[in-house]
Amino acid sequence: MKEVILIKDGELSLKGLNRSVFEDKMISTIKRRLKEHGAFSVTKSQSTVYVEPQGDSFDFSAALDSLSRIFGIAAYTRAGVCEKDMNTILIEAPNYLENILNNVKTFKVEAKRADKKFPFTSPEISAELGGKLLENFPHLRVDVHTPDIVITVEIREKGAYIRGEQYKGAGGLPTGTAGKAAVLISGGIDSPVAAYLMAKRGITLSAIHFASPPYTSIRAEEKVKTLLKKVARYSGTIKLCLVPFTEIQEEISKNCPEDYFTLIMRRMMMRISARIAKENGCFSLITGESLGQVASQTLPAIAATDEVSELPVLRPLIGMDKDEIVIISKKIDTFGTSILPYEDCCTVFTPRHPHTRPKKGQCEAAEKNLDIEPLIDRAISGIEYLYIE
Ligand code: ATP
Ligand code: MG
Repeated sequence: MKEVILIKDGELSLKGLNRSVFEDKMISTIKRRLKEHGAFSVTKSQSTVYVEPQGDSFDFSAALDSLSRIFGIAAYTRAGVCEKDMNTILIEAPNYLENILNNVKTFKVEAKRADKKFPFTSPEISAELGGKLLENFPHLRVDVHTPDIVITVEIREKGAYIRGEQYKGAGGLPTGTAGKAAVLISGGIDSPVAAYLMAKRGITLSAIHFASPPYTSIRAEEKVKTLLKKVARYSGTIKLCLVPFTEIQEEISKNCPEDYFTLIMRRMMMRISARIAKENGCFSLITGESLGQVASQTLPAIAATDEVSELPVLRPLIGMDKDEIVIISKKIDTFGTSILPYEDCCTVFTPRHPHTRPKKGQCEAAEKNLDIEPLIDRAISGIEYLYIE
C-alpha cells in the first residue's frame, strides 16, 4: 500500500486571515528539510498538509524524524492510501495495519467522510472495517472508551487514508513568522534552551558568542558550535558571530572596581550584541538568564544590563527553575554537551564579591575609566562570521 504522511498544524488555526502566510512558511520549511531524504511532494488541502514520496529513492523514517523538529506542526501521522472503494479498503487495511495491531489488545475504528459522495456513512465504514479487523486479528477486542489504538479511516478527495497512531509535533509557530533575533550563546545549559524556546515561537535565530582567548580555549568555541548545531536541527540555519572579547575583559580588570567586573562585562556584551543584532536585521536579543540564578541575574543587575541595550531583551527562562530548564535541554539533546567542563569568558576574572544590587548611576561611575566606544569598535571589527546548520 502506498504510504504518505499527513500533517496537522496547531495554533495556526487561530491566525485568521494570516493563516495562509503561516502555512506557507511551514510548508516551505517542510520542503527544504525533506530534500535530503529523497523526493517528496508537499501539498495542502483543507487543514491538512500531505507529504507524498515520489519515485522510490526516499527515506521515509528519516523524513518522519525531520518532521518531528519542524515548528508549527501540531501532529503528524503516517497513513496508507488506497482507492475510495469499500472492498479495496477491507482488503488493504488489515495488511497495512498488521504491525500496529499485533502489538495491541484493544482498538476502535473511527471513520471520517470528507467526501460526502462516498456511498457508506461513517458508522457503516467503522462497523465494516472493525468487523474485518476482528476477523483477521482474533486476539483483538473492540473498546470504544479507552482503546489501545484508534484506527482512523478518512475518505478524502484523493483516496481513502488509513492510519494508526498520531505523533505529537514540535508545536509552536513556523520559523520565520516572528522576525529575527540574536541569542547570546555561552557554552552553558541555559542559553541553548532559551534559543530553542524563542525559535519555537517563530523567530529566525542569529547567535553571538564572546570568546576571550587565551583565557578561553578553542574547545569552548567548538562546544558552542556543537550546541548551535543541535538547536539548528529545530530552528534551521543560524548565523553565528564570534566576537573577540579578551581586550575588553583585560581593560575592565585593569580599570574598574573588582565588585563591578561581572556587571560591566555584561553591559559590554549587551552594547556590542545590540549593535551587531541591529546590523543583522534583528529586532531583539535573547539571553538564558533566570531570575536569581546567579549574582548577575538579580532584578537590579538585569536592569543595569537592560539600560545599555538598544534592543529589547527576551529572557524566556526568567521564571524557570534549573531542573525545568534541564528537562528541555535533555529533550533537545544539548545537555550532554553543555555540561562539558570548558571555561566560559564569564568565569574568567570573576570577582570574589560580585555586586548584586547596583543602584542607578553606579555602573556608569564604575565604568568611567573605560574607553567604551573604541573598545566596542575594535571588538566589532574583529568579528568572525560562520553559518551553522
Ligand atoms: P548559560 O547556562 O546560558 O551559560 P548561565 O546560567 O551560566 O547561563 P551567565 O553566565 O550569567 O548564566 O550568563 C547569562 C547569559 O548571558 C547566558 O544565558 C547567555 O545568554 C549570556 N552569555 C554568557 N556568557 C556568554 C558568552 N561567552 N557569549 C555570549 N553570551 C553569553
Ligand atoms: Mg554560563
